[in-house]
Formats: sequence, structure tokens, C-alpha cells
Amino acid sequence: MLITAIESSVVSVPFTMGGPYWSFAGKTWDRLDILLVKVETEDGLVGWGEAFGHAGLDATRAALDHIVAPLAVGADAGDINALTRKILHSVHLLGRNGAFVYAFSGIEIALWDLLGKRTGQPLWRLLGGSRPGRLGAYASLLSYRGDVDLVGKCTAEARAQGYRGIKLHEVTRPSVLAAKEAAPDCEIMLDVNCAWLPPVAREAARSLAGDGLRWLEEPVWPPEDTAGLASLKRYGIPLAAGENTAGLFGFRALIEAGAIDIAQPSVTKVGGIGEMMRIIALADAHGVEMMPHSPYFGPGFLATLHLSAALLERPLVEVLWMDMEANPFDPWVRVTDGTVGVPDGPGLGCDPDPDVLKAYAKGETVRTERS
Ligand SMILES: [Mg+2]
Repeated sequence: MLITAIESSVVSVPFTMGGPYWSFAGKTWDRLDILLVKVETEDGLVGWGEAFGHAGLDATRAALDHIVAPLAVGADAGDINALTRKILHSVHLLGRNGAFVYAFSGIEIALWDLLGKRTGQPLWRLLGGSRPGRLGAYASLLSYRGDVDLVGKCTAEARAQGYRGIKLHEVTRPSVLAAKEAAPDCEIMLDVNCAWLPPVAREAARSLAGDGLRWLEEPVWPPEDTAGLASLKRYGIPLAAGENTAGLFGFRALIEAGAIDIAQPSVTKVGGIGEMMRIIALADAHGVEMMPHSPYFGPGFLATLHLSAALLERPLVEVLWMDMEANPFDPWVRVTDGTVGVPDGPGLGCDPDPDVLKAYAKGETVRTERS
């Protein structure tokens, strides 16, 4: 079944996070922007995907609209592996990690949604999974920039909502201690987003060693310094990384260096569902735990739910701790008592609510058609 058209669009939703907004890449992060990719086939079916954007959404969208979508239209929508190889090879000299691979990830997720719809099966079933129950979720708090009062307050709120795992995006030990005091019965994780060169990271890891962190995430700058990351192993805190790692071979380098205990590939960044499956198999073969990166609320989040339900032994889903004004994928992006449900319908199991898309649309939809 041939791909006849691909559309990109952005839905932009205001949110609150219990404190002042964080800025990322020079932009204040006060709205949740989702870059949606809609793929249509000649039989009239429609699949939805999501490409990683964040502060760089416009760059991903340019890659999608100008290069990647034109390469994909006219191809067989069911030929996902061959299309992955063809497109990623076509754009490899433009970057093996970044806008072009993010753009393709959005299309690839939509192709799996289409495959599920065409076969009448939910994605978890296509991946060989059993009917899932609810999955455990952890609250991924945004950054309160070391304000321990806010960290404590928001950690306590997340705990009261039922979360039993809470991740901080902070860089200080007092933040960890504030979270532990606010939620003594919860697992606390610390994500420092590549804040430190290895000598400083080792000092930090030494000071955190007795704090019982569930994991320490991306402690080393730059993220590809596998040896620097591996040098933190001696402090005994489980090390997590991978959201900035390029595909299967990037994860092979991390794992072969003995640098990670927990792999964190991101389905909207790494190349989509097929690449996630390859990385999960690699991690399984090396005894490395898998905790997918999923700080988003669109089809990428839904894909993460299905992958986690079907392929992970002990899934724990990352959910950004924010209060959105609306979401086109409700109720599947909502956490109840620290758990999240997995859609049962064909494909990803949830198309976006057109009224919400319309109300929160940002800019125009761009359509690429088969010529
Ligand atoms: Mg992270």
C-alpha cells in the first residue's frame, strides 16, 4: 500500500509545572509543542507519528518537509525495514543523530500505526506482547534550578498523586536530599543533562554515593564520552544514558565501554520503533536495563507504552511532571495513581482529537504529496 501524502503540523499547549519556567537552548519552555507527522496511504488509512522537536522543532520540521517526507512518499508503507534503510542511508551525510533522524522517526512511528490499523491489531500485539495491564510510571520533574523548597514541594505533590518514582532535573546534592525528605518511600533519580566533565562528575558521584539514588542520568559532558562515563562506575550508583545516543551502534559503543547500567533510547529521536527493538535486543543480550526516554505526550509516548508493554520485563514509563491545559491524546497520556494504561485499539490505539488539534494548532499544516 503506497504512501500518498505526509503532513507535518504542530500543536502547542500551555502548561504549568509548580515553579518558574525552565529555559532550554536559549528558549523559555512554557508551552508543550508536539511535532505531529500524519502519513496517508492510497487506501485512505491514516497513521500518526511524532518527531522530536523541543527547542529545535523548527529544524526537525524543515528536515521533514524538505527532505525526508519527499523521500518517503510513493514508497510501500508496509515495507518499514527497507524504507528505514533507504531513507537513513539517503540522509546519512546530513547527520546520523539530529533533525533528519528525528524527522524519520516521526514517519516510522506513523508506519507502525498504519500497519496496526491495516491488520486490526494493537502495536503491543504486533510486537509479540500479551495483553498488558497498567504500567508503572515515574514523574520526571522539570528543573527548579536548585531551589530546594520547590524541589521538595513538587516532589511531595508527585508522591501525593501516587508516583513512587521521581526524577529530578537538578545538579546539586541538596536537591536530592530535599526530594528524599519529601518522599522517603519513593525511588529518586537524578538527571543532570550532561552537566559535568569527568573529574567533576566523579567528585559529584562520590558525594552522592550513599544517597540511594535509583540512577544517575547523563552525568558526563559530552554524552559521547563513553570512557568518562565508565569511570563513574566505581561509585556504585547505577548509570543511565542514551537519549543523545545515535542509534544501535551508538548504544553498542556505550555498552561495550561498560558505561551504562540503564539504556535510555528515545523513540522520537533514535529512528523509531524498529530501532528501539534493535536496541532493546542489544541491551538484553548484555544484561543492561532499559528505561526509554519519553518526555513527550504525543504518538511517541504512545509508541513507548506499546514497546514497554510488549518487550520490557519491568517497564517504568517516564512522564514529564507538568499540568497541560489540554492534550489531543487524552486519556492515554494521563497517569493515575502512578500508573498509565496502554491503548487496546489498532496501531497506536489513539488518533488525536481534531478539536484539540484545531484549538491549539501553531502555524500551518505542510502537506507533501506524491507527484
Ligand atoms: Mg534525561
